[in-house]
Amino acid sequence: MKYNSVRLMKSSIPILAASLSMSTLVIQSKAESFDRSVCVKDNFEPAIPRVQQSKDAVEKLANLQRKTGRKPNIIWIIVDDMGYGDPGCYGGGAAVGAATPNIDRLARAGLRLTSCYAQQTCTPTRSAILTGRLPVRTGLTRPILAGDKITKNPWADEVSLPTLLGETGYQTLLTGKWHVGESEGMRPHDVGFDEYYGYYSAQKEITQAVDARRYPDLVNNPEMMAAFEAIAPDNHLIHGFKGGKSVEVSQVKSTDDMGRADAVLVDFTIKKIGEFAKSDKPFFIEHCFMKVHCDNFDNPDMPGLSASKYAYKNAIVEVDLLTGKIYQALEDAGILENTFIFFTSDNGPQMDAWPDAGYTPFRGAKGTTFEGGVRVPGIACWKGMISPGRVSDDVFDLMDLFGTALNLAGVSSDKLPTDRYYDFIDQTSFLLTDDGKSNREAVYFWWGSQLMACRMREYKEHVKVIIPQSKMQWIDYSTIQDVGLAPWLFNLYIDPKEEMPVGHRRNAWLATLGGKLKEHGATFKKYPPKNIGLN
Ligand code: CA
Repeated sequence: MKYNSVRLMKSSIPILAASLSMSTLVIQSKAESFDRSVCVKDNFEPAIPRVQQSKDAVEKLANLQRKTGRKPNIIWIIVDDMGYGDPGCYGGGAAVGAATPNIDRLARAGLRLTSCYAQQTCTPTRSAILTGRLPVRTGLTRPILAGDKITKNPWADEVSLPTLLGETGYQTLLTGKWHVGESEGMRPHDVGFDEYYGYYSAQKEITQAVDARRYPDLVNNPEMMAAFEAIAPDNHLIHGFKGGKSVEVSQVKSTDDMGRADAVLVDFTIKKIGEFAKSDKPFFIEHCFMKVHCDNFDNPDMPGLSASKYAYKNAIVEVDLLTGKIYQALEDAGILENTFIFFTSDNGPQMDAWPDAGYTPFRGAKGTTFEGGVRVPGIACWKGMISPGRVSDDVFDLMDLFGTALNLAGVSSDKLPTDRYYDFIDQTSFLLTDDGKSNREAVYFWWGSQLMACRMREYKEHVKVIIPQSKMQWIDYSTIQDVGLAPWLFNLYIDPKEEMPVGHRRNAWLATLGGKLKEHGATFKKYPPKNIGLN
């Protein structure tokens, strides 16, 4: 990082330098930093300045606004637990028994990111993209589960994206899965969204009470069921409105009801797209699929959609069809040219639920900070604004959607509080300019309140790792541990599966990455993290 162009970290010392050998230290002390980022504000993540592409993006946006006379719409489409390798355009599709022509078409129409990163589980990602802050800073460090006692409403002092966009005239809607708290004060319509239409928790949390095949010990045991019901999440489709009003639209009473949920949710989003398109205000829609998080059930109105016939694969094909319907609705409304679309998944596949689980070519899975847990599909599409067929391996963190949305909506970052640290990077110029490069230098990976790893360009350094005790069970049967004498340093270009460390000697990257980890850790001293009882 440079501080106003003055390099501070000329000879970075890795976080575990003290335990490394003397010969290593000699090499590292001579190492030049590869860090290109510059600090503009003390409480903002340093970004790589890209002067020309930033100018080009500003001009492109201004031209569009002159043409349309309004600010652009923003729609995020977020699939739950979809693996990097599930869509055809990421190497899966028909090859793994579930063709995804609509998602593939979206990718061809825009920019396909191959190094796009989520947090390693649902709640952390979903909160990070709406706050622009790492989960460890907001306290939302892991999924909120049945029976959890939250000690403090994390949203009480967060400034959410829908709040900021709402203040500048946007209509805001969240459809589908929320999973960032269902008590009053934590619901989407309490934290800035004008409207909410969806389910608060993941499919499995809702359906286990009606799924005697998977959970016979619960469904057939009244004593267990009574205990479950005392802590069970809400199983209603909720229609919520800013100000607190919440209506129970329907209830999940069977696995068939759950199987139909996504089609119902997409119908709602499509109806709202039609309404929004006719109004004179721009919109922000976050559409969150319930699928393909376990447990998946066929939509009884279109069963067995995939070649594989497995429930997970059928769910992938349904999500693909429904994504195509959302895109078609934007086209029918005549607003594709003024709508930024981003399609992604909130974390890697949950292999603990196999075969009701996705596919990743990488090591690890949901719940880990290896690539399999955090590298996700990321497609940015905007007719006339993002050139079709672009592909980039530059790093993108889903938190960057926060800063990019603010820029698109014309909200100045000066509106953000200065008493807390912001981790997002504004990636507008990366996404909008032909051959645009990422403005992000490093991606940091956390597991709960533990800093695990850092990626810069093709290098990734782990200082802690999750190790499963059986091949698939990265959540239910795993341990977290420190690495040994040296950090585990992988070159992801020659070793995408993170199996062959390139070693601690003679690698100048070790110093730079170690320096970034240290620098990142230091931000927590000045801006202490929140603890809401999930750590
Ligand atoms: Ca998830």
